[in-house]
Amino acid sequence: MELLKNKIREEGKVLPGNILKVDSFLNHQMDVKLFNEMGKEFKKRMEGKKIDKILTIEASGIGIATILSQHFDYVPVVFAKKIASANMDKEVYHSRVQSFTKNKIYDVVVNKRFINKKERILIIDDFLANGCAACGLIDVVRQAEAEPVAVGIVIEKGFQPGRSEIEKQGVPVESLAIIDKLEEGQVYFK
Ligand code: 5GP
Repeated sequence: MELLKNKIREEGKVLPGNILKVDSFLNHQMDVKLFNEMGKEFKKRMEGKKIDKILTIEASGIGIATILSQHFDYVPVVFAKKIASANMDKEVYHSRVQSFTKNKIYDVVVNKRFINKKERILIIDDFLANGCAACGLIDVVRQAEAEPVAVGIVIEKGFQPGRSEIEKQGVPVESLAIIDKLEEGQVYFK
């Protein structure tokens, strides 16, 4: 998606450890007009697929998923909560995830009331790196005996194994911008 790539070129900052900072438009301040264009693009890419619900993860996925819902007939948006691993009660589905940016382990948690058997779920996140967050969400969807239709990602770091980890689970990935490499402060796209 050219509009998004241009925004990343103009405002993205490359940090040590292969981290791309895009807090001026994606995950701190939010460019709602751009989010709306991203929503249209995801809708186009999901053409012909029935989506009952969108599942994302706090905090950065929430804004994107909420705007996106408007392009999918206002389907409900559920966001998984990140909880430092603790004893889980029976009311929730949970899956253990390794955080890429914070280098720690947490649980993604969704109340069982909010994902129902056979529902067709579109999973959304801002970034794809090693695929841990997305695979945790797929796990939660499958625990509920619902169907993960696809994983939609805003920025995929194509040099990390996230895509293949998700595809191994039999779930297709749709990314709006795929980064080939981050080098000397520059972003190179595929
Ligand atoms: P994964 O679970 O695929 O390894 O990492 C994805 C999660 O880590 C995303 O939810 C995102 O919050 C965070 N993340 C991974 N790489 C980056 C990055 O380069 N920049 C930012 N801002 N977040 C990232």
